[in-house]
Amino acid sequence: MSISRRKFLKYSAGGAAVLGLNIFENPLMRKAFASAVQETPIIWLAAGACSGCSVSLLNALSPRIQDVLLDQVLPGHHTELAFHPTVMAASGDLAMQAMYDTEEKPFILVVEGSITTADGGRHCEVGESHGHGIPAVEHLDRLSRKAKAVIAIGTCAAFGGVPAANMNPTGSKGVIEVMREKGISTPAINLPGCAAHPDWFIGTVAAVLLGGPESVKVDEHHRPEMFYKKLIHDNCPLRGHFDAGRFAQKFGDEGCLYKLGCKGPVARANCPEKRFNGGTSWCIDNGHPCNGCVEPEYPYDHVH
Ligand code: SF4
Ligand code: SF4
Repeated sequence: MSISRRKFLKYSAGGAAVLGLNIFENPLMRKAFASAVQETPIIWLAAGACSGCSVSLLNALSPRIQDVLLDQVLPGHHTELAFHPTVMAASGDLAMQAMYDTEEKPFILVVEGSITTADGGRHCEVGESHGHGIPAVEHLDRLSRKAKAVIAIGTCAAFGGVPAANMNPTGSKGVIEVMREKGISTPAINLPGCAAHPDWFIGTVAAVLLGGPESVKVDEHHRPEMFYKKLIHDNCPLRGHFDAGRFAQKFGDEGCLYKLGCKGPVARANCPEKRFNGGTSWCIDNGHPCNGCVEPEYPYDHVH
């Protein structure tokens, strides 16, 4: 590795990632990351979700996910995203074998989607054994014990999210909740968002790989403070309207969106700075209230 871990972390977690700069612009940073991810590949377990977080991640422009985790970072090497059902070329037994081979080495487990626990977890299965589907909860139980760290990407994986909404017939839960129930103490980080911003994932993976999971300072919901510390409300371009008491009464009106249900005053994330779709826009710039998608209560109709 041509750059020290300390230097990389100082640059990424401490500065560039927070400021929204591209931590991979520096060739030394890219090399350091490439070397680390080669040592520690990623298994991506897709559980109860819509795959929106995968789509969001694949939409990363700067750096592109291909440059970060796929072959362009390491020309001629196989992907270091060792198992990802949406992007991997293999299918069936071959794909599952990639997971089983990878889990015999040091790896990071990324989980997208809620863990369905009702009916033995049969509402979400990944792969099969002897003609029967393997519940995602069984994979989580096995893989999270072996992994160096677990990253729950998206609100479904972090807190149950949409699959755990009102009635929750599948018994969907967040990854950390299930791990706790099983007494699994592997370090775990939540990256909620519906969908999660690609930079939140890439920045966290970089920090975990190069500094260890303990280097990522998290809040009470296990979210990295470098991305989830600031209130949307404090950085909202409509804050002047809020302070002046000018509220939109219907969509399209000028004014703060609070009376249309905006959760900006309780939601913590750097969406106003990062913006989505390659920095093009974000919820409030599109005239839509913040739905508070990064909070444990989302979608705000849970029956506990
Ligand atoms: S639109 Fe939402 S986040 Fe923005 S000022 Fe109003 S309440 Fe706060
Ligand atoms: S602005 Fe609110 S609803 Fe939109 S992505 Fe950020 S936290 Fe989620």
